[in-house]
Amino acid sequence: ALPGARIESAAGLALAIAEAPVAVQQLGRPRGRLAVIGLGPGAAELMVPAVKAELARAQDILGYETYVRMAGPFRDDQVQHCTDNREEMQRARHAFELAAQGRSVVVVSSGDPGVFAMAAAVLEALHASSDPAWQRVDLEILPGVSASLATAAQAGAPLGHDFCVMSLSDNLKPWSIIEKRLDLAAQADLVLAFYNPISKSRPHQLGVALDIVRRHRDGQTPVVLGRDIGRPGQTLKVVSLAELQPQMVDMRTMVLVGSSTTCRFDRADGREWVYTPRWY
Ligand code: SAH
Repeated sequence: ALPGARIESAAGLALAIAEAPVAVQQLGRPRGRLAVIGLGPGAAELMVPAVKAELARAQDILGYETYVRMAGPFRDDQVQHCTDNREEMQRARHAFELAAQGRSVVVVSSGDPGVFAMAAAVLEALHASSDPAWQRVDLEILPGVSASLATAAQAGAPLGHDFCVMSLSDNLKPWSIIEKRLDLAAQADLVLAFYNPISKSRPHQLGVALDIVRRHRDGQTPVVLGRDIGRPGQTLKVVSLAELQPQMVDMRTMVLVGSSTTCRFDRADGREWVYTPRWY
């Protein structure tokens, strides 16, 4: 048959022949994708390849400005949506709105997105939504190297045995819960990894937290302080729990407090190794 011709059969079947091949890309709407990714601590070598691939395919990148900048550089066709660090739920909803339109969207976190970061906010937004377009989005969470793991690796193996991860920020939970958990975790002799240890709006809480830990732990307990690990100007310090002062710590620091078995010894280069043996 000739292009544009219609053939109709007695069975009620109609067949049309198009003038030109159909451009599938311009028909309908692709299934949107939303990836919540972890950049790792900062260094490009510590970013997992799946995250790199996701950044390359992204049309929209959402996140706290510092992290979006860390994830770049981006091409001209990629749209960056930088927001304030505290607007997490709004950012999560915005990401679903874009993905529901068929776009390929990335939400950026530092470290791992599931550790005090965007993955839980994105799932909370989806759970609360009854929009079927949001449910249809191809959602994936891609992991990253979390700050506690990156810091531990540089110090040796302080997390070599059972450990506990806590955020000391009381922005999203009451301080009384933090005190209770600190007390029980310290009593249980777990190595303690503190995220968000201190900030300008909470200058006194780290001191209170350390007082609780000191009730259960010897002054000689090794403490690792990793600041800006995997980023320019990174520093790693090992001090004892007795020496540790809140002024040594800021919001870009990871604090690892050893257990009763954590030990330290000199390295050939004048620095120190810290590790927690696998046995008890
Ligand atoms: N999702 C992130 C943690 C976000 S909470 C992760 O998995 O790493 C932010 C806290 O993480 C900071 O206050 C600091 O305690 C810690 N942190 C994040 N990146 C860090 C880095 N590069 N070096 C040291 N600590 C870091």
